Amino acid sequence: MLLAAAAGLVAGSVLTVVVHRLPRMMEDEWRRESTEDGAGHHASSGLTLATPRSHCPRCRQSIPWHGLIPLAGFALLRGRCARCRAPIPLRYPLMELLCAAGAAMCALRFGAGWPAAGAIALTWALVALAFIDLECRLLPDAITLPMLWAGIGFNLAGGFFAALPDAVLGAMAGYGVLWLVQRAYRRLRGREGLGSGDLKLTAMLGGWLGWEALPGIVFLASLGGIGAGLVQRGPFAFGPWLALAGWLALVAGDAGAEAGRFLFS
Ligand SMILES: [Zn+2]
Repeated sequence: MLLAAAAGLVAGSVLTVVVHRLPRMMEDEWRRESTEDGAGHHASSGLTLATPRSHCPRCRQSIPWHGLIPLAGFALLRGRCARCRAPIPLRYPLMELLCAAGAAMCALRFGAGWPAAGAIALTWALVALAFIDLECRLLPDAITLPMLWAGIGFNLAGGFFAALPDAVLGAMAGYGVLWLVQRAYRRLRGREGLGSGDLKLTAMLGGWLGWEALPGIVFLASLGGIGAGLVQRGPFAFGPWLALAGWLALVAGDAGAEAGRFLFS
């Protein structure tokens, strides 16, 4: 558990970079594709996941080495850029904490071995997806699609989280059922309710946890989403609720499926 938590701190620190840069890299890509001659007059952010090194987005000052230490960095810098005093979003220490606590929980639930490694990878992907969706209303294909195949791969290798046929059916049903909901909502309300990223995230969870986990996940996520919609009165991100419900299904496992069977039987 300690090892998993330590790895989680480091992964959380790396993922804060992914959450900040991946949506901006996607915008660069869209802009490149929309300028026909390819030599258009677009301003690219020039970011990749590896370069440039971490800096303050306001004054461009590089973050000092002690500011890059997970959790402690935020405290050492007292939550502000050392040069221009711009506040550092609370998302940074929060993601590191969630990745560490989530990984420790997976180690507790699955013990040492491949199932724990898979569960931890899924946990980190869900944290990244939830925070990208909260900030940018995006669930990047660059995360959902490889993770969908990774889940099916884990279940192909050993049926760690679901039997392979249940996982394949889960991926199909996750996409298919939400596609129907998306169409029905568009027809009834005349506007968009679910994004295509929500469909792919649900397919991903189905590929990892099997179709039996999906009714409980979608039900729980809808409760959360409806609650958030009532509080904010406006469009809300559904992805974080799917991610949270999916993670609970991962660690609560059989208890969740049991509750789902109880609710839907
Ligand atoms: Zn600064």
